[in-house]
Amino acid sequence: MAGDLAKAGGVGLGLRDIFVARRALAGRVTRTPLVPARALSAAIGREVLLKLETTQPTGAFKLRGATNRLLAMSEDERARGVVTVSTGNHGRAVAHAARALRMRAVVCMSRLVPDNKRQAVAREGAEIHIHGAGQDEAQTLADRMAREEGLIPVPPFDDAHVVAGQGTIGLELLEDRPDLDSVLVPLSGGGLIGGIALAIKSAAPAIRIVGISMAKGAAMHASLEAGRPIEVVEEHSLADSLGGGIGLDNRLTFALVRDLVDDVQLVDEDAIARAMAHVFWQERLVVEGAAAVGIALLLEGRLDGLGQRICCILSGNNVDMDAFARIVGPSSP
Ligand SMILES: *Cc1c(COP(=O)(O)O)cnc(C)c1O
Repeated sequence: MAGDLAKAGGVGLGLRDIFVARRALAGRVTRTPLVPARALSAAIGREVLLKLETTQPTGAFKLRGATNRLLAMSEDERARGVVTVSTGNHGRAVAHAARALRMRAVVCMSRLVPDNKRQAVAREGAEIHIHGAGQDEAQTLADRMAREEGLIPVPPFDDAHVVAGQGTIGLELLEDRPDLDSVLVPLSGGGLIGGIALAIKSAAPAIRIVGISMAKGAAMHASLEAGRPIEVVEEHSLADSLGGGIGLDNRLTFALVRDLVDDVQLVDEDAIARAMAHVFWQERLVVEGAAAVGIALLLEGRLDGLGQRICCILSGNNVDMDAFARIVGPSSP
């Protein structure tokens, strides 16, 4: 049942953890603005608000969870440092948070990772280790470095401190607009929506929480249908930050999404591209594909049950700008 806090409580994470995270994160991450989407509101006849996680210093919300995870480490753990294989928003967040706390951060990547991504991670001050021809081999190196050098892996979503960190977005929404009817949240591993749902359902169970994934390779959606975490084939998508599995041994986020999220919807690639163009030309904001999925749903007119006041979480803006220019085109759609 959606909004079943008692059941979600089975994962051992609650509203208090999110308030603890909020205190820890104060002054370390941005309390992001919630702004009106004027053109979109006029186009669909509802009030649409945009939560600008794009304004975090790393361009995505993942800084909240990663920073909260690192702050929760003991002195001994901090002295050892952290390791990740993500070259996307999570990797950048871990690197950024580690630098702020003067910790060692290692990012393992394969030879296939393009130069611009390598440089983005390097700019955050992380140590880069290149190994192998694919993600699996990079992971093998990360596991070895964790074993041999005592580095601590930082999970991208399935971790209580990470989920609590992302949940601080929910507290901010409740403060800014407790009268919201629904919140549209990009969904991959479920750390973002799990945290937001936990915060919001604790105070306002009637606010509808809707997860949105790309139609191609949506692991959480497939897992919910199957009733347990399953694997899906990863496919190329404009919403690249939503790719990847939820982990067959998922401990927290599968249960959180199953018990607290009202609905999960899928959007196709054309809809994501149109949404990126809309946000750019009409709202004058740059977002990556993953962040555009909520707007995509609204532009397709799929408004059932969303009510009058709808918030879209614009989760990140890390997109190659040449690719972006091709996607949004030379003029207003
Ligand atoms: C990671 C990410 C998501 C999805 O977050 P999960 O916690 O994995 O569900 C959405 N948008 C962006 C930009 C991301 O980087």
